[in-house]
Amino acid sequence: MKIAIAGNPNSGKTTLFNALTGLNQFVGNWPGVTVEKKEGKLKKKKNVHIMDLPGIYSLSPYSLEEIIARDYLVNERPDVIINIIDGTNLERSLYLTTQLAELGIPMVIAVNMMDSVDKAGDKLDTKKLSEQLGYPVVGISALKKRNIQQLIKETLKAGEDKGSVPVMKFNSVAEEAITGIKEIVGSKADGINDRWLAVKFFERDEKVSDTYKLNKSEAEAVEKYIKKCEEKLDDTSESIIANERYKYAAKVASSSFVKKDKGALTVTDKIDKVVTNRFLALPIFVVVMFIVYFVSVTTVGAIVTDWTNEVLFAELIAPGVEDWLVSINTADWLTGLIVDGIIGGVGAVLGFVPQMFVLFLFLAFLEACGYMARIAFILDRLFRKFGLSGKSFIPMLIGTGCSVPGIMASRTIENERDRKMTIITSIFMPCGAKLPIIALIAGALFNEAWWVAPSAYFMGIAAVIISGIILKKTKPFAGDPSPFVMELPAYRWPTVGNVLKSMWERGWSFIKKAGTVVLLSSIFIWFTSSFGIIEGKFTMVEDLSDGFLSKIGTALAWIFKPLGFGEWRLTVATIMGLVAKENVVSTIGILYGFAEVSESGEEIWELLAASYTQIAAYSYLAFNLLCAPCFAAIGATKREMNSGKWTWFAVGYQTVFAYAVALIIYQIGTLISTGAFGLWTVIAFIVLGLMLYLLFRPQPKRSLTGERITA
Ligand code: GDP
Repeated sequence: MKIAIAGNPNSGKTTLFNALTGLNQFVGNWPGVTVEKKEGKLKKKKNVHIMDLPGIYSLSPYSLEEIIARDYLVNERPDVIINIIDGTNLERSLYLTTQLAELGIPMVIAVNMMDSVDKAGDKLDTKKLSEQLGYPVVGISALKKRNIQQLIKETLKAGEDKGSVPVMKFNSVAEEAITGIKEIVGSKADGINDRWLAVKFFERDEKVSDTYKLNKSEAEAVEKYIKKCEEKLDDTSESIIANERYKYAAKVASSSFVKKDKGALTVTDKIDKVVTNRFLALPIFVVVMFIVYFVSVTTVGAIVTDWTNEVLFAELIAPGVEDWLVSINTADWLTGLIVDGIIGGVGAVLGFVPQMFVLFLFLAFLEACGYMARIAFILDRLFRKFGLSGKSFIPMLIGTGCSVPGIMASRTIENERDRKMTIITSIFMPCGAKLPIIALIAGALFNEAWWVAPSAYFMGIAAVIISGIILKKTKPFAGDPSPFVMELPAYRWPTVGNVLKSMWERGWSFIKKAGTVVLLSSIFIWFTSSFGIIEGKFTMVEDLSDGFLSKIGTALAWIFKPLGFGEWRLTVATIMGLVAKENVVSTIGILYGFAEVSESGEEIWELLAASYTQIAAYSYLAFNLLCAPCFAAIGATKREMNSGKWTWFAVGYQTVFAYAVALIIYQIGTLISTGAFGLWTVIAFIVLGLMLYLLFRPQPKRSLTGERITA
């Protein structure tokens, strides 16, 4: 038997799926968590398959989630649907129920969040609901695992006795048209419900008319029915149907749901009054994110990280392992590889794990409690003024963990232009792997100054906005921003287990990367830097600057000279960052002899501090945060853009943008602090002028229809 779970985003589908299957899928208080469908088996009943579909509001193919869910339901035809609805939001959920009912598949309605309904003192009468809808209704709490057995029982029963299923009737005018259309298209309904097909034809659903081709006379006859109905009711067929559904949902909801205090503000309303307030929203957002980055990079995280970097790896592990290797007469080169290469490189990255976990803990909490969703809402309000859509911010907020799922989340944006723009700009947000770079620079060169880490986050946002505005004014991206309708989930206390799980999943993938990609890269870096050709002989070098890597790095370093870090070690580190951003820090660790300087611990930081000014370091930070992402993210870009040309454009744009920003920071910063002036200072001013021009030039003219006039 095949069971499909369908419902609105954030209705608790994943929680229910986990409860039914015993699997452990990620749950977030965030619409859009389940983009792909997930499959599992019912606990203790291995022949019952359960499919968790993406959250949807309707079965019209407006977004990718809706297409995935609809294709599955229509083409695969599960034996029974569990329609999960949020009991605290009954009316809205029932809109989808009316559409699912048309598929002609047996259905059980699971009213979730009954614990919240009870707690609020509201009354939801499941019996009445069942009488009106004609489907079995079970009130459950997926979170508290209440009534799950009852739900399973009803579902298996409904799936077995495949009777006819009730549908909602529209008003008589629409029904007449639909009945007429059904006679024409009914014969095409091979394996799918003919009434569903007729309603879709009535709505002029393009996907359906593309799939179920009508000949000319049939199409004309269908159109005649639609036109007649539209004239009579003076509305488009699509909105006639939508209106009917809303009316029906409202009627059913009002008769089975009684709110305790009508009009009273819920806790969520009260919090939102402050948090999304027109004037307070942005300051609160800035303070919250400031605290998140300040605490995770500079205070709590840093204390633990300092200890792991300076004591655990530098004083205990590296010398300990070295002594042991020497004592068992290991070859010099092998000792070097293990101590300087592997411990130096991987250790430099692992040293930042505590900070990473603190950051991920915060992000998981903000996401689970519902505040992340508000951020998108707040930013949308601001950026709509600049012609940008808040929809783009969801991928970006997800990207603060890792850009790859962030880029994938851009799928929810229907508008092609906005989707491309989001993919290109979302990598500017500092992902978890960039955190060690931020922490290293903040620690080594800015003596843990309070503003450095948060500034990296806000620099990311600024880069997104600036790029958004610049790109929007160019031809391929011009046009109105996608509409953004996002439902704000209720604030909830996240469960400890959920937050820890989310933190662990992200943190663990970071550790795994240290053990694989970073490990291999470290070995590569160590070999290429420790061997070279001296007097025509291939040999291990005493001084790393005689090694192969130094030669390569030096040959490329000129590129970064104008940015203040045209030196082979930082050049190599930046390039290794393309493999994985963690490599930036591991490469610096190896090339600055992180493990060797063990005794006094902090020396790598001091070495860095002695070699660079703060301005050069900040320029380095800016370049590495904004330039082309790692290969995994470039691969994701390629997959989502589905075009090599656009992928190259994305990577090119990101790198040029990063170069421009770093150039401006270094040249103008140096001019201000030391008065040094040269050719590159002039170029930096020209670049700055050009950026300001692209930013503030008037929007190219557009015709009334929204199309750009090309003349
Ligand atoms: P999905 O987006 O539909 O998959 O929903 P999730 O399963 O991710 O759940 C969304 C949010 O609702 C999470 O914060 C869950 O912890 C919470 N949640 C799920 N089921 C219940 C429930 O029965 N009661 C309460 N109070 N919260 C729930």
